[in-house]
Amino acid sequence: MPTILVTGGNGYIGSHTVISLFENGYDVVIADNLSNSKMEVQNRLEQITGKRFKFYNVDCCDESALDKVFDENQIDSVIHFAGLKAVGESVKIPLEYYSNNIGSMISVLKSMEKHGVKKLVFSSSATVYGMSEDVPFTEQSPLGMCTNPYGWTKWMIEQILRDYAVAHPEMRICLLRYFNPVGAHESGLIGEDPRGIPNNLFPYISKVAGGTLECLTVFGDDYDTPDGTCLRDYIHVCDLAEGHVKAISFLGKTEDPVSVFNLGTGKGTSVKEAVSAFEKACGHPIKHVFGARRPGDIAVCYASTEKAERELGFKAKYGIDDMCASCWKWQTMNPEGLKD
Ligand code: NAD
Ligand code: UDP
Repeated sequence: MPTILVTGGNGYIGSHTVISLFENGYDVVIADNLSNSKMEVQNRLEQITGKRFKFYNVDCCDESALDKVFDENQIDSVIHFAGLKAVGESVKIPLEYYSNNIGSMISVLKSMEKHGVKKLVFSSSATVYGMSEDVPFTEQSPLGMCTNPYGWTKWMIEQILRDYAVAHPEMRICLLRYFNPVGAHESGLIGEDPRGIPNNLFPYISKVAGGTLECLTVFGDDYDTPDGTCLRDYIHVCDLAEGHVKAISFLGKTEDPVSVFNLGTGKGTSVKEAVSAFEKACGHPIKHVFGARRPGDIAVCYASTEKAERELGFKAKYGIDDMCASCWKWQTMNPEGLKD
């Protein structure tokens, strides 16, 4: 089976995708600089799959280090997860975000070109739809008006890839716009492991449920939504991982240099509903208070899933209860996260 280079394959979504690729018969090579993940993930992947994956500790901005990875392996396709992703941090250190996210994409492309690798899957985000609230978002919805540098890096990289594909029509590039990935592998051995106090809803709820954090603040309950709290399209990370396997197989068949797909469930879940679902999963109440709106949040965000269903054959299997149950299992098995 072909070998897939997974950049950022030691991270949250990358590690789950490595398992799906392995289960679908692909060989996997991982390149990650460990800036936001721990080497212990590789041991956990081995426990789950019985296989030790080939791992390169490289910075994907370093083209010559990447060249070595391509020289030493017969890479068929690349899935480029490597990147910085904390929205708030991107506002404080924008240059690091622009140089790491855009720099790594350009180096990966240059190295791919030198080695004749033509298939690329890129981790984009629903954040490219910006402040629009014209839901559901379809792949044709207007882009831009991002609210932070992180979002702009995704928007800019999408444009760079489109420009590159015009100059290189033999390329087969898939832009995957993720909605809100949550949950963990069913084994409880890998999951989302943020450093410090989490910013995102699910890691925060998990830590309150586990007793490491005291209380969740729900950011705003005066939105124009059924219960006043924001709606998001939460998608199980294992469903998302399957989406990448479908994308790789799609790239082998399509004639289009660039294809774009939303990966979501098509359903909006409110913050209040997410808290209730988590309470059901963990079996006790989750302390929460209602606070002010968080700047930059939109009321409602969910995907149109039609195109991914029709063209990729992708449909999410898991619901919010599965997402909460798997998060809770990961949290209880690893209350302090993974060791360094
Ligand atoms: P993550 O931080 O868990 O994983 C990213 C991995 O990339 C980490 O292991 C990190 O060490 C590595 N990395 C970062 N910069 C690197 C570089 N220059 N060279 C080599 N490795 C590098 O994040 P994640 O949640 O798994 O996200 C993966 C991708 O999906 C990112 O590009 C992210 O922007 C995108 N995405 C994530 C979400 C989400 O909510 N998690 C939503 C939309 C898009
Ligand atoms: N949220 C919240 N409290 C938190 C973290 C998030 O109420 O401590 C809300 C946030 O306002 C948004 C939803 O949960 O409405 C999802 O937020 P997250 O940061 O996980 O994802 P994103 O903003 O990227 O959709």
